[in-house]
Amino acid sequence: MSSKINQDNTTSITDNEPQAFDGSCLCGQVSLRITPPLKLMQYCHCARCRKVTGSAHASNIYIDKSQLQWVSGEALVKRFEHPDAKYYAAAFCSNCGSSLPWQVKQGDTVVVPAGCLDGKLNIEPKQNIYWDSRACWFKDSGELPKFAELPPRKPKPAE
Ligand SMILES: [Zn+2]
Ligand SMILES: [Zn+2]
Repeated sequence: MSSKINQDNTTSITDNEPQAFDGSCLCGQVSLRITPPLKLMQYCHCARCRKVTGSAHASNIYIDKSQLQWVSGEALVKRFEHPDAKYYAAAFCSNCGSSLPWQVKQGDTVVVPAGCLDGKLNIEPKQNIYWDSRACWFKDSGELPKFAELPPRKPKPAE
């Protein structure tokens, strides 16, 4: 295993298939590399994905386990297997808690939380699954006001 993470964002969306997709956790101790192709991307609104991401839905990419290579920090990767789930598991960095790719309980599929990938991708979300389980407070982010960074600090005083 001699590959190094590219630090220069050379993985970009192009017509050419990128050589690899690099990923990492928030603290940077765990890094990984995925060989193409990325097979499917979708949002999952199930209750388990909400818990594990702490967010409205997971943004997951699916690959085969043969496409995943841990570049550094594999010993920090902790796996959680939900006792009631047939396929579902989760993986995270035991130092910073970031979600990381996990292999399904029965099969060779690896589910990659898209947020752990650092460069550009050549895939977009295709669909919402477990839509009927979505959070009661879920609202499509496109419907909300957008600020380039933080919103202005002081709200206008009420009349
Ligand atoms: Zn970490
Ligand atoms: Zn889910």
